[in-house]
Amino acid sequence: MSEQERIEELRRLLEKYAIEYYVDDNPSVSDFEYDRLLEELQSLEAKHPELYDSNSPTQRIIGKVLNGFEKVIHAQRMLSLGDVFNKEELKSFVDKIWKDFPDAAFICEYKFDGLAMALMYEEGRFVRAVTRGDGEVGEDVTENVRTIHSIPMQIDEHGPIEVRGEVYMPKASFEALNALQESLHLPLFANPRNAAAGTIRNLDTGIARKRRLDMYLYYFQNGERYGVHSQKEALEAMAKMHFRVNPSWRECHNFEEIWSFIEETGSKRNELPFEIDGVVIKLNQFNYQQQLGTTAKAPKYAIAYKFPAQEVETKLLDITLTVGRTGKITPNAVLEPVRVAGTLVSAATLHNEDRIKQYDLKINDRVIIRKAGDIIPEVVKALPEKRDEHVHDFIWPKDCPVCGSKLVRLPDEADTYCVNPDCPARILESIIHFCSRDAMDIDGMGSKKVAWLHGHGFINSIEDIYRLHEHRDQLLSHKGWSDKGLDKLLAAIEQSKKQPLSRLLFGLGIRQVGAKAAGILAKDFGTMEALMAADESRLASINLIGEVSARSIRSFFDQSENRKLIESLQALGVNMEEPKAEVEVTDSLFAGKTVVLTGTLTQMGRSQAKKVLEDLGANVSGSVSKKTDLVIAGEKAGSKLAKANELNIPVWDEERFLREVANRE
Ligand SMILES: [Zn+2]
Repeated sequence: MSEQERIEELRRLLEKYAIEYYVDDNPSVSDFEYDRLLEELQSLEAKHPELYDSNSPTQRIIGKVLNGFEKVIHAQRMLSLGDVFNKEELKSFVDKIWKDFPDAAFICEYKFDGLAMALMYEEGRFVRAVTRGDGEVGEDVTENVRTIHSIPMQIDEHGPIEVRGEVYMPKASFEALNALQESLHLPLFANPRNAAAGTIRNLDTGIARKRRLDMYLYYFQNGERYGVHSQKEALEAMAKMHFRVNPSWRECHNFEEIWSFIEETGSKRNELPFEIDGVVIKLNQFNYQQQLGTTAKAPKYAIAYKFPAQEVETKLLDITLTVGRTGKITPNAVLEPVRVAGTLVSAATLHNEDRIKQYDLKINDRVIIRKAGDIIPEVVKALPEKRDEHVHDFIWPKDCPVCGSKLVRLPDEADTYCVNPDCPARILESIIHFCSRDAMDIDGMGSKKVAWLHGHGFINSIEDIYRLHEHRDQLLSHKGWSDKGLDKLLAAIEQSKKQPLSRLLFGLGIRQVGAKAAGILAKDFGTMEALMAADESRLASINLIGEVSARSIRSFFDQSENRKLIESLQALGVNMEEPKAEVEVTDSLFAGKTVVLTGTLTQMGRSQAKKVLEDLGANVSGSVSKKTDLVIAGEKAGSKLAKANELNIPVWDEERFLREVANRE
């Protein structure tokens, strides 16, 4: 056997073993044997770079750094499902379908809590993975998806295939990831879905490889081409092709069957090794699906039943107060840690003083907390019947817990404020905000570091950030600081001076000016000087700014301490201008795309359409091939349209094309 033949054989074998291990859960070789063969393949490939193949099993384990994610148009829109939240809504949904189609069946499946993904295969090879995006246009994340071992790189079917499913982070991977984050003093991920999404959109594929994502397939986009006529057949066909399909689906013929599937799933939910947030109920027969069609957003033949927010009982250990950068006092519940909706919860918000009174909360009460999805956990009620002698009242303070000045609560407001502008808590929070990711984005200046620097007297105001370098020797005398680490931090601080005006404005923490408003203001005025000179009516005349914000902005700049802060920042070299926006060609839907025009375009004419496309950065080609990204088909389109359908290439009619062009312009 030549080395080339051995490479091909090893690739085939390793692919087969990976599917046995990751999809079928039935390995025929030991991990040791697998690793040995993989090493053999790696060393042979190193000897033969000319035999490179992006789908080789070795490519799953190599970290690459990408430049970005290319935009891809979906051949068929990726719809999201409508939701129902109770039995009655669900019953009326299915009853309506049964009225029109008495012999309709429904396939019930888990609703995985991850992110939707389309996989494309050509000539038996995995070629591309695309996120849902806005449903019309997604992002090419092929390299990150390749690191998921259960996704086959080769399949036996040779025509074009598109299958869709959910990429998710298993609970075990999620817990390991957060344990690692914690040990590195990095922020924790809120839940497995956020972690999966962040991983898929990371430009370093080494990250995806380490974090161990997985995927279930549940949709066969062009299944009819392969004789698939129902959702049941689609799931069976995909499983037969060795795609990972969760076997827990069930075919249901009446509402009792559907409801008992939901109840069983709900009771099993916490024991599953992955997160689900509901059950998908889908009309089985494709011909009925097509008759029902879709709305603008969602199919009419399927719906998601969402599980109710999870509620669990725990103990309220304490109530602590935090002072925000505006001086607002927020009470927080300190809880006995408890697992709810996939997350370990030990704190919950209590919103304000009234909430504590309304719920009659006492320290050491048993309480019910609720958590749904991404939402911050909250205390729903106390269980006064479970009180014992350790329970005692919480006394809402009259003075700021940090600076001791009198707290203020305006008559019509629920919130209480510390109004002392020199309150150390407010100053600390405003410095943290200034350094944060959406503001000046100073790497290394997270909340813990800023709190330390503030606590040790190195940074007492925003300006002090840019004077930190003067304290080099003192800093190095403290434990935990090294030359290298300090250099890195100081370089990041220096670098932040170049941030655009929009980030600076947001970082200053002007009330009513969020990141979006800061961007609008920076673009409109261009410089800090021009913005500071603007009067209230000029500010209010800006689209999306409004009177309340205009007043708040004006009053911020009228305060002498704020003007002094801006002067000092300028003197320290902080940029006060917004760079002129450059046209971002890469953001255009058409840039770099190969587009084919066919048939008669009645409104624009073919040569004009060609020019419009070229102006938007597209290459207009005369023939349809695998390289074609999009076909625009007018009336009487013939063989090119047929070829596009054959190759599963997105096709737009003229109306859709004109609409998209109008959107771009
Ligand atoms: Zn205070």
